[in-house]
Amino acid sequence: MNVKTSLRVVEQFRELFGEQFQVNAPLARYTSARVGGPAEMFLVVNQALELQTAVELAYAQRIPYFILGGGSNILVSDTGVHGLVILNKARTVRFRHTGASVVCTAESGMNLSSLARQCIGKGLGGLEWAVGVPGTVGGAVVGNSGAHGGDMNGSVLAVTIWEPGRGARIYTNEEMQYAYRDSVLKREQGKDIWRRVVLSAELELKPEAADVLTARADAFTTHRKQTQPGGASCGSMFKNPKNYYAGYLIETAGLKGLRVGGAHISEKHANFFVNDEAATAEDIRSLFAEAWNSVREQFGVEMDLEVELVGDWHFEER
Ligand SMILES: Cc1cc2nc3c(=O)[nH]c(=O)nc-3n(C[C@H](O)[C@H](O)[C@H](O)COP(=O)(O)OP(=O)(O)OC[C@H]3O[C@@H](n4cnc5c(N)ncnc54)[C@H](O)[C@@H]3O)c2cc1C
Repeated sequence: MNVKTSLRVVEQFRELFGEQFQVNAPLARYTSARVGGPAEMFLVVNQALELQTAVELAYAQRIPYFILGGGSNILVSDTGVHGLVILNKARTVRFRHTGASVVCTAESGMNLSSLARQCIGKGLGGLEWAVGVPGTVGGAVVGNSGAHGGDMNGSVLAVTIWEPGRGARIYTNEEMQYAYRDSVLKREQGKDIWRRVVLSAELELKPEAADVLTARADAFTTHRKQTQPGGASCGSMFKNPKNYYAGYLIETAGLKGLRVGGAHISEKHANFFVNDEAATAEDIRSLFAEAWNSVREQFGVEMDLEVELVGDWHFEER
């Protein structure tokens, strides 16, 4: 982007969004790992329509954009992110009855765990697994988030998605091509393409006694507290390889407690990399590189990152 283009774009965003738009904004505070450099341009949107307007403008001006939900499944590089980062706070939620079930339409910036709690309070079941899962509906729709035997695939009826150069259209559950922590949108990550954007999702819920739902969610929360560390992290760093648990492999490789700079591999759960002493993104990168290499050397298993690396990353060839 040349200086002239960037000045014009900055002016356009300022005109449309006023103080919701900033230049050179630190991102660490918007990520669960609390690391990462600044966004060249940063915008907060509060409605799905604003989200769509913003990506349409960015796309028209050929400005790379990145949608930031809860920042709980990404690692932002220390040098930050080129282009526009859009923090999604579009949180409108509606419920409608359809025969035996209830359909919830949630804007993509809605916090998933809060939505799950809201549903439980209304006596609507299906999202209890999501209580305590950080992030937004949009992030969960993209990554097919799940826990305790449930996942987004089990609830998503349809998703309204903005397609670059085409506009918004509705995807059915089948069109999302869900698999373990995967979807058609997740597969766009890491590719040099204009990505699709989730505006809202329709989730199917089933009426059930609120106290039964609460008890279920509380049991999941207790289990989560017993098995996962608190503090700043990206959650699970690696996906579970076929027939293995990533945490078990890292633990068996003897890496629990390993520290690089301000980050360490959790003693409680070895697939969690915790920032407890003002870590840099590079500290965490060194840790996961060590874990990946050790697990490959000791078990011949090449683990895939669950966390997405965002911004500029340079890897040494081995
Ligand atoms: C402590 C902890 C525990 C966790 N436990 C679980 C768990 O039990 N199960 C589980 O599945 N995950 C878990 N996670 C991971 C994380 O919570 C999920 O992956 C979550 O769904 C990510 O949502 P997010 O809004 O934070 O996404 P972000 O991290 O903000 O973004 C992730 C990706 O989704 C994209 N994205 C986000 N919103 C949109 C949108 N509207 N349109 C298009 N793309 C979008 C981003 O651009 C990015 O590529 C955990 C994480 C932490 C830190």
